[in-house]
Amino acid sequence: MPHHPPSPDGGDPQEPLFGLDELTQDPQPEPTSFPTPFRDSLQAHRLLAIREIHAEPAAALSPRGQQIRARFPDARLIEVDSHWRIPDLHGNQGSADRWMRIKRETLVLGVKKTLTTRPNGRSADWIAPGPSNGCAMSCVYCYVPRRKGFANPITLFTNIDAIIGHLDRHVAAQGRKPEPNQCDPEAWVYDIGENGDCSVDALVCDNTADLIRAFRDWPTAKASFATKFVNPDLLALDPRGRTRVRFSVMPPEDSRLLDLRTSPVDRRIGVAADFLDAGYEVHFNLSPVVVRPGWQDAWTELLRHMDDVLPERVKRQASAEVIMLTHNADLHEVNLRWHPRGEDVLWRPDVQETKRSQNGALNLRYRAGVKRRALEELRGLLARHAPWLSVRYAF
Ligand code: SF4
Repeated sequence: MPHHPPSPDGGDPQEPLFGLDELTQDPQPEPTSFPTPFRDSLQAHRLLAIREIHAEPAAALSPRGQQIRARFPDARLIEVDSHWRIPDLHGNQGSADRWMRIKRETLVLGVKKTLTTRPNGRSADWIAPGPSNGCAMSCVYCYVPRRKGFANPITLFTNIDAIIGHLDRHVAAQGRKPEPNQCDPEAWVYDIGENGDCSVDALVCDNTADLIRAFRDWPTAKASFATKFVNPDLLALDPRGRTRVRFSVMPPEDSRLLDLRTSPVDRRIGVAADFLDAGYEVHFNLSPVVVRPGWQDAWTELLRHMDDVLPERVKRQASAEVIMLTHNADLHEVNLRWHPRGEDVLWRPDVQETKRSQNGALNLRYRAGVKRRALEELRGLLARHAPWLSVRYAF
């Protein structure tokens, strides 16, 4: 029988502290100030309270692995052959309560074997080999679970030095960026968080901090990651303008329905100036845009709110990506079992078309005409209510 440490908020440690009740309760009020470090706070503990660590042996023995294990000394260590194949954890079997519990209480440690940087050219110039995959949050539309299943906790890669060494060589090989493009006027932009959320990873270990510090020393490059979680500990990392944080935003009523376990949207917007003042470039992902009755009014309200509360210095440097929702038939089937209300707005065959992807998955996206009109409307709303927010990229 594994030993479970007592929960700091006094509840029965065997009872789920966070699960489907999140769908039926009003969100917890966000505190206005946070303890330092935030990762030791009760708020952080609500998202992550690690009790089991599944680790490849080399990952467990590595310096980063040992650092993570020291941080959670009461967590049970379970040896696994590969971070990709842990049948007890991955997949869509079981209930959503179980998935949430796994996301909150379980970590996986692995060694990233293949280090490749892929060209992108849309959001970023390059997709870096990420320091993690999987996520402790539970956005209903997320594509990350499509590979490992919905019960997909954070996998951290412990060979962060190798990842940084690879990036160092890649950055050096590019030289200076020859001309401006939609990613950035000067720097080569590397997305470091394609398959997870770097802000949440930073609750667990220093992978995010190490990457942010590495990019400080590469004057031709810039790190970039999207996030839906506000982690005040990132404010202390001194990125010196070489990291772009992209706060994802959507109308709060959509977010409450679809972005489970994330920070409230108004908090993501509310910390933008703090992040800018701490040395980050701050952009926004308008993402995903969900076409539903009344979506234009909801986005109008959101853009007006941003216009009202964001200071000029944030507006001057901000830019946005717009990403229309894509969905997936398998994910739809899974979601129907536990969160059918979300599917009311995500699954819209009347305005969506299907496309079979290379790996055989059936993906849904808005029909070309629907998407074009929605993007035009959204650009119109931006021009009217947040003209300072240029669109860097729309998809
Ligand atoms: S925060 Fe990102 S990676 Fe995590 S569940 Fe949401 S969409 Fe997926």
